[in-house]
Amino acid sequence: MAERTPTIRKLSEAVVNRIAAGEIIQRPANAIKELIENSLDAGSTSITITVKDGGLKVLQIQDNGHGISKEDLPLVCERFATSKIREFEDLSNIGTYGFRGEALASISHVSHVAITTKTADSACAWKAHYSDGVMVPAKAGGSSDAKPTAGNVGTQILIEDLFFNVPIRKKALKAAAEEYNRIVDVVTRYAIHNSSVSFTCKKVGSNSADFRSTQGSTRDVIRQVYGPAVAKELIDITHHNDELEFKINAVVSNANYNMKKMVFLLFINHRAVDSSNIKRAMENLYSVYLPKNAHAFCYISLEMKPQNVDVNVHPTKKEVMFLNEEKVIEALCDTIKDKLANVNDSRMFKPAQ
Ligand code: ADP
Ligand code: MG
Repeated sequence: MAERTPTIRKLSEAVVNRIAAGEIIQRPANAIKELIENSLDAGSTSITITVKDGGLKVLQIQDNGHGISKEDLPLVCERFATSKIREFEDLSNIGTYGFRGEALASISHVSHVAITTKTADSACAWKAHYSDGVMVPAKAGGSSDAKPTAGNVGTQILIEDLFFNVPIRKKALKAAAEEYNRIVDVVTRYAIHNSSVSFTCKKVGSNSADFRSTQGSTRDVIRQVYGPAVAKELIDITHHNDELEFKINAVVSNANYNMKKMVFLLFINHRAVDSSNIKRAMENLYSVYLPKNAHAFCYISLEMKPQNVDVNVHPTKKEVMFLNEEKVIEALCDTIKDKLANVNDSRMFKPAQ
């Protein structure tokens, strides 16, 4: 017997949005990455993150950036609403983390969002609530207008009950402690890469921070986070490659230092990304200098022409593709190898103390 021909139906907008949101915001750590990037885009120098239940109950970020004007508040959580690009061509010349206007929209489809914000020229701060992309009343029967409130210049975004309407996602997540660790990992990466911004991360109700960085050099922040032992054994690497049109800024451990597990912090055009190819290249390179099962500390920031990088290959922007990957990796390895070899040579000729 022939099966009944299935009918094609259009999904409702709410279902479409919730599916799309799930691609961008897979877990609390993705949400915090987007929020940190927004705070950095707003020129903040101080960012405080407060978390409850691994970010599933509360995920809050407070910054001292330029704030959002009251007039823009109705648009903030609307999909594809952004203050950062206007034309498709702008994508090839992007100077901000955000551009798709999707993060807050996505978050508002899978949580309750409240934004309190103040610009320098506003007499007071304004607070608004959001659900499914639109500004909503705080209480049933109330008005959906933004409410005046007290506050400093900057923005506070409060996300409550993340995934309350996606139970299957909630179930798939790890324990709160593990989700919290992932949040701290994201904060750590951004703190090291943005060493002129101070970061704090703590749990709701706790007086002491689980993570705190103060403004300083990249090395200063590495010392604050990973301790003085590794900070003493770091080498700075800067390199401009005219032929391949890229720049390296790296801080890596020398051959006198090693750790049990590799710390590998990679940024491409200021985005925290993963690259198993670059990571493997570093492991191979250090294996010549370090004892077996010992690993290095690598913070590597690569900058290349925006036209050579496609940040749009992955919804969470975690993986990027760039031109001449093999050659870039080779040049990166050569540069680090030279430096490591030099440090070792100079140590060999140092008189014994
Ligand atoms: P995108 O960053 O891609 O523009 P988002 O959904 O992340 O999209 O943010 C939407 C808009 O909200 C931004 O373009 C920006 O104008 C505003 N915004 C979000 N977070 C902040 C913040 N912390 N400070 C100032 N403006 C913000
Ligand atoms: Mg953004």
